[in-house]
Amino acid sequence: MLAAYVARTGGEDPLANLEVGQRPQPEPAPGWALVRVHAASLNHHDLFTLRGISSRKVEPPQILGCDVAGTVAGYGPDRPEGAPEEGTRVVAHSVIGCGACATCAHSDPLFCRDMSMLSEGDLQGTLAEYVPVPAANLIALPDSVDFVAAATLPTAYLTAYRMLFTRAALHPGDTVLVHGATGGVATATILLGRTAGLSVYSTSRDEAKRAEALRLGATAALGTDREASKELARMTGGRGVDAVIETVGEPTWEFSLRAVRIDGTIVVAGATAGGDPPAGLRRIFWRHTRILGSTMGTRAELEKLVAMAASRTLQPLVGGVYPLDRAGEAFAALAAGERNGKLVVTPAA
Ligand SMILES: [Zn+2]
Repeated sequence: MLAAYVARTGGEDPLANLEVGQRPQPEPAPGWALVRVHAASLNHHDLFTLRGISSRKVEPPQILGCDVAGTVAGYGPDRPEGAPEEGTRVVAHSVIGCGACATCAHSDPLFCRDMSMLSEGDLQGTLAEYVPVPAANLIALPDSVDFVAAATLPTAYLTAYRMLFTRAALHPGDTVLVHGATGGVATATILLGRTAGLSVYSTSRDEAKRAEALRLGATAALGTDREASKELARMTGGRGVDAVIETVGEPTWEFSLRAVRIDGTIVVAGATAGGDPPAGLRRIFWRHTRILGSTMGTRAELEKLVAMAASRTLQPLVGGVYPLDRAGEAFAALAAGERNGKLVVTPAA
């Protein structure tokens, strides 16, 4: 089958480590389904994997991709009780637990100590014609949600959903700041926040990206300097925002600490531009700042997103759709940050 995979690690250019070519057709293990991929979306996670950075050792050839929407092609060796029938349209919860520990037995795999995502370690990724997925991770997809839209949900939208509504526990009328205006999590935050009646403030150094954030429904789009920080304070009546969605890290951390109101929340779900900013501890304790970590989301949260997409409450923003054999172009666009919204790859029909 055709797949996009890490062919080697090292070197200066992660895109040079990407190859699109033939890989063996996977065989699903007991309890697992084989999903025929109709759409898979790209994440910065895949760029990190191409650099050799992952929660597990990256051992080429490793097929990339965390997000998948498709149809159930089969089970091996039997269909587990309650699993969707062959041919069912599905989207996959990409968070895979060990399946053996007490957490996996009683809670969501998100909290398993050995949690990993599709494309990590010995788990195959989704940028292929077929991908094996635990049957328990499949969610039936209503006909009203197309495969391309569904493929955007399991990482970027799920991450944003959990940060906004579970971790920061925001309610209609609350205010939130997100850094960036056009990336996957930033656009998801703006669209989900707008839907939920939040006021979403966005930052970007790029004027065109700020305009795009406003077009998506951001309340205001600001620069990233100290003056922008003061402007945000003025816009919130000197109070600051109820929550900050932080996925950038070193370049934005000080802005985040200044932006959040007293007794407000900063949710951290990434550090794409560096993970060790000066902590600013004095400001944190003096202002009762809550700093919460977050990564991905639960199956139940993904089910809520699927329902939002089915009811058209949420229409994910897609920045481009590429055939699988041109996955290299999609990765180049992702690395350049030149597209608004999620980039999706579809295997040839
Ligand atoms: Zn476990």
